[in-house]
Amino acid sequence: VVSLKDVHKSFDKLKVLDGVDFEVDRGEVLAIIGRSGSGKSTALRCIDRFETIDSGEIVVCGHRVNDPKLNLRALRQDVGIVFQSYNLFPHLTIEENIILAPCSVKRVGKAQAKEQAQQVLAQVGLEDKLHQYPEQLSGGQQQRAAIARSLAMQPKVMLFDEVTSALDPELTGEVLKVIEALAANGMTMVMVTHEMGFARGIADRVVFMHRGRVHEIGSAAILTSPATPELAQFVGTGL
Ligand code: ATP
Ligand code: MG
Repeated sequence: VVSLKDVHKSFDKLKVLDGVDFEVDRGEVLAIIGRSGSGKSTALRCIDRFETIDSGEIVVCGHRVNDPKLNLRALRQDVGIVFQSYNLFPHLTIEENIILAPCSVKRVGKAQAKEQAQQVLAQVGLEDKLHQYPEQLSGGQQQRAAIARSLAMQPKVMLFDEVTSALDPELTGEVLKVIEALAANGMTMVMVTHEMGFARGIADRVVFMHRGRVHEIGSAAILTSPATPELAQFVGTGL
């Protein structure tokens, strides 16, 4: 469903992705780990074309992401992305946040979109927050609402970039639970995470990025028996 081949990307002179290769199959959960600055977020953002690449190829749900003729709207319908900061529109209620894209991009009728909003909010355990504004919700609830907003587009792939790292520890669990349920329902997911225990628990495969490359890739077992000193050091220090 997702494939990156020899992807290179620099910001000015800084080489951030230096030949990244990996694939994600349908229904698979891929976790990306690695040190700060190793290129994790950039790799994720390239998948949804929030960044363009210098060379290589990315194909997502049949969309050739770096093709100049890419249908960006179609790509964004198939791929949902949730960032560390929740990015809800503060002046809109949770329901309005959720129906915005389905109504404008997918041209779903308002009544149907509202029905769907209820459904996705139930999925993240926020059915009673429909008419609240983001600031009335806790961080964990806002993040779950952001996930619900992505789900309302019925994406085929979900991308998560450290969605719990801005949260207080006691709010992390509720967000991870939602992601876990999505995984159990067969959602294809790529997630950048610091939560090693979580990665070990739900990832089918783990990518360890180091200096803009996939340094190690394998089942979650690589976290407990790393093949390279770099990963050993990374899991050892937990940073
Ligand atoms: P972290 O764990 O801190 O989130 P990361 O692995 O996600 O790190 P990236 O955000 O992909 O790392 O950044 C990789 C490198 O690219 C960093 O050195 C960063 O400063 C640089 N970088 C990222 N985005 C830009 C940008 N828009 N312009 C210039 N440099 C950037
Ligand atoms: Mg990052």
